[in-house]
Amino acid sequence: MSDLENPTGTAPRSDGGPGNFVDDLVRDDLAAGVNGGRLMTRFPPEPNGYLHLGHAKSITLNFGLAQRHGGVCNLRFDDTNPATEEVEYVESIKADVRWLGFEFGERLYFASDYFEQLYAWAEKLITDGRAYVDSQDLEAIRAGRGDFHRPGVDSPFRNRTVTENLDLFRRMRAGEFPDGAHVLRAKIDMASKDLNLRDPLMYRIRHATHHRTGDKWCIYPMYDWAHGESDAIEGVTHSICTLEFINHRGLYEWFLEAIGVEQKPKQIEFGKLNLSYTVLSKRRMKELVEGGYVSGWDDPRMPTLAAVRRRGFTPEALRAFCERVGVSKRDGVADVTLLEHAVREDLNARSPRVMGVLRPLKVTIENLPEGEVVWFDAAVHPEHPELGTRKVPFARELFIEREDFMEDPPKKFFRLSVGREVRLRYACFITCTGVEKDPATGEVTALRCTWDPATKGGDAPDGRKVKGTLHWVSAAHAVEAEVRLYDRLFKVEDPMEVPDGGTWKDHLNTESLTVLTGCKLEPSLASATAGERFQFERMGYFCVDTRDSKQGALVFNRTIGLADSWARMVAANKAG
Ligand code: ATP
Ligand code: MG
Repeated sequence: MSDLENPTGTAPRSDGGPGNFVDDLVRDDLAAGVNGGRLMTRFPPEPNGYLHLGHAKSITLNFGLAQRHGGVCNLRFDDTNPATEEVEYVESIKADVRWLGFEFGERLYFASDYFEQLYAWAEKLITDGRAYVDSQDLEAIRAGRGDFHRPGVDSPFRNRTVTENLDLFRRMRAGEFPDGAHVLRAKIDMASKDLNLRDPLMYRIRHATHHRTGDKWCIYPMYDWAHGESDAIEGVTHSICTLEFINHRGLYEWFLEAIGVEQKPKQIEFGKLNLSYTVLSKRRMKELVEGGYVSGWDDPRMPTLAAVRRRGFTPEALRAFCERVGVSKRDGVADVTLLEHAVREDLNARSPRVMGVLRPLKVTIENLPEGEVVWFDAAVHPEHPELGTRKVPFARELFIEREDFMEDPPKKFFRLSVGREVRLRYACFITCTGVEKDPATGEVTALRCTWDPATKGGDAPDGRKVKGTLHWVSAAHAVEAEVRLYDRLFKVEDPMEVPDGGTWKDHLNTESLTVLTGCKLEPSLASATAGERFQFERMGYFCVDTRDSKQGALVFNRTIGLADSWARMVAANKAG
């Protein structure tokens, strides 16, 4: 297997597993009977935005492990921050996980359901002398923590008595103080080399309404305090997270030890998925949505799961892509053409073929009388004869693709020009005899052609050959549609690499969306329904838009074109 096919270099295991180091660790634990042979993972999104392709990797990894090894995987919302969370996000995340093909069923949890338990543990830490109420403001706290070179200094409130701390903490909960008046901090070690252990914050006061607990709480646990404890409450055995949490591991372990849990979740860090030409960050995606750079979280150019679903990507393709990029101990950037390759591979196998003309040029078949229709049979899928055929009508007025005709063709142009003969896909040969032009602009507005009835079925009985085969649609039978073509949202491989004075948004591709109206599609598409996918021959893969398409006013998204740059690269790599 070449590097290109397997960019992270993880070898598949002989027993067909995905062969990544996380899988190996889990397998070894199960074999050794750790946790009594029990496996529980979780996917823990913060409901502050829509899920993106990076999350697909985490979902596939966590749910995939549980599936392969007879374990379970929880969907847990890390909803500890009332300011940024919305019910809309919770619902979209649930829908996205299901769409990807994973079922959490009853295993749906919210960190906010643990607020009471977390509070009780916080009181225990205070009672044990391991937490205290600090009344400095956040700036003073930050300054007091020092940095890599300087140890921190103790807060003047660090040695409050247990009684005083308990009293203040209870009054914090009761709502006696405004935001920012006090925080609860763990009492660990202000000189620790591990900065996260320099008396980290556990609670802050925030008079805000939470999407689930309403106004019940005005103190909220910090993510670091809630996260490992939530894992422990659920009985998670393997807490799989991305690399940025590696420095927090010591703190998580300290907290778990302090509350006295017996079976500690094992934290395993892996490298985030990054994609070339793509920005994977909820915060930045939100900026694009709110700034009107895209039409919404599900704008088909976005890297959210909602957007790629709307665009026509399949969950099977995304899962295959996630398996292919593998799981690595380092952060890396996957080539977006690998994702596109996975999408094409899956769509090629499953999409029925149809003909659609995106930029129509009218053709009159002069030797076919008006009103006469010849019906041809066209295979639904070239590799699946069992899917049968559909009927396509051939009549005097047709449309072909404007770019399939040239008045003055260069040498390698094998399509139509005056005096040339080509094949119409599934139908017959036609020869162009003349053109009509706009007298003002000189632009070709229509073609005159003749057909050879002897070539019905697509070949000439006298054995003469043609070099070009075009797709086409009968004008009288055509279904009109709007078609939206998409290009990459960013012009450069690494949009976060920004020259001085610029912003990542300078790299947005202003030509990422092309809307074509008046496209002419073969009549079998009249009944196409929202979300249905097709290959338009020679033009790519398309699906019916789920938001804007209506009966009688169809809107198609181009999921992706046919040209596969990844496959070409792999082939070139093999050859050379
Ligand atoms: P973002 O940086 O886009 O805001 P996040 O990490 O803040 O993402 P969370 O909701 O906290 O988003 O993520 C839920 C889970 O998904 C976490 O376990 C996180 O580690 C994982 N995850 C997030 N981004 C990626 C990524 N690019 N690749 C793999 N896993 C990811
Ligand atoms: Mg996060």
